[in-house]
Amino acid sequence: MPRPTIALVHVEFTDEQQALRKVVRDFAESEIAPHAERWDAEHTFPTDVVRQMGDLGLFGIPFPEEYGGGGADLTTLCIAIEELGRVDQSLAITLEAGVGLGANPIYLFGTEEQRQAWLPDLCAGRALGGFGLTEPDAGSDAGGTRTTARLDGDEWVIDGEKAFITNSGTDMTSLVTITARTGGTGGGLPEISTIVVPAGTPGLTVQPPYRKMGWHASDTHGLTFSGCRVPAANLLGERGRGFAQFLQILDEGRIAIAALAVGVIRCCLEQSVAYAGERQAFGRPIGANQAVAFACSDLAVMAENASLLTYQAAWRHDTGRPYKREAAMAKLYATESAVTATRMATQVFGGYGFMDETLVARQYRDAKILEIGEGTSEIQRLVIARDLGLPVG
Ligand SMILES: Cc1cc2nc3c(=O)[nH]c(=O)nc-3n(C[C@H](O)[C@H](O)[C@H](O)COP(=O)(O)OP(=O)(O)OC[C@H]3O[C@@H](n4cnc5c(N)ncnc54)[C@H](O)[C@@H]3O)c2cc1C
Repeated sequence: MPRPTIALVHVEFTDEQQALRKVVRDFAESEIAPHAERWDAEHTFPTDVVRQMGDLGLFGIPFPEEYGGGGADLTTLCIAIEELGRVDQSLAITLEAGVGLGANPIYLFGTEEQRQAWLPDLCAGRALGGFGLTEPDAGSDAGGTRTTARLDGDEWVIDGEKAFITNSGTDMTSLVTITARTGGTGGGLPEISTIVVPAGTPGLTVQPPYRKMGWHASDTHGLTFSGCRVPAANLLGERGRGFAQFLQILDEGRIAIAALAVGVIRCCLEQSVAYAGERQAFGRPIGANQAVAFACSDLAVMAENASLLTYQAAWRHDTGRPYKREAAMAKLYATESAVTATRMATQVFGGYGFMDETLVARQYRDAKILEIGEGTSEIQRLVIARDLGLPVG
């Protein structure tokens, strides 16, 4: 079925942003869409295509040109992620995590030396970084991290386990940034710091890939650290600032995940409108039935709302305004809407919607994790409620 496009009109993007949208859309249509079903079925991480995304400059979009970046902003990155998410979520999350979780901690908290050492390859998409926050027993409660790092001379010795780490085991992975306990604060709370562990460091073991419900072409592994030694200079930012650092990383990441969800909802809208016009039942297009037509109307409303919340949050970020609540609202609304939208689109497609070769079927399987990763829906509601001043625990 040809892929229709329905534009959302609310935000005025710059000429550069609109040009970038077209470049990414064309790339997604020509280099990703024809192969995504196979990558999904074969659980293949398409390294060559990820490198091509690097050649387009996508991994460097929000970083300064001096590190090989594009000198643009989060809004522009969101546009690229949205366009990829419209076609395939695995490639969209590879970009989102590569930038937001891989390169961004180095950019935000690294010394000039660390930036120069790691960022050029990450910005160029020659390398990918992972961010190891989650552990088998510490996800939403990420402050409960049990991984330890102790200084031994001029090295950190790391022991522990991380779970579900995106981009951590690809052929291109150059590093994973982890949070670890580096001591106590005196008040009974752990001191948490952030440390860069280069890929291939002895004592770091990348576990076999998970068997996932979706995101089959995205790379996700558990990591174990056993007497893993890295230079003391691999500490990222100030010792003991790990908790504050990951909260900042997640705030930005939530806007980018919301953008991915916008792409998913747009996909559902476009696919449903086209199918409702062509599929015949009882001698007329199924879209002649109000039930089907109204489903499409609801998808259009969801797409607009999710898009408005997302780009408003990105704009607040890019213009230096507070954006914590807006990021949580965008992530909450857009990702829950994406799950609803994929279920509705699958319904519009009837039995064909349940077949793996149908795009909305893959989007349906892939969408669920959007409500979980980088903070579950419940955690977004907590963030919003606290920001409203409520004494919620
Ligand atoms: C495919 C995939 C990729 C991922 N990539 C990464 C990555 O790159 N890096 C990384 O660090 N992590 C990653 N994650 C981990 C992800 O961020 C966590 O799974 C998520 O934060 C939830 O943590 P958890 O799984 O431990 O669930 P839990 O924290 O155990 O939560 C279980 C349930 O309890 C609810 N809950 C918990 N606490 C509260 C509360 N206080 N109030 C209300 N409800 C609550 C949650 O909302 C959820 O519904 C990834 C996960 C997946 C599946």
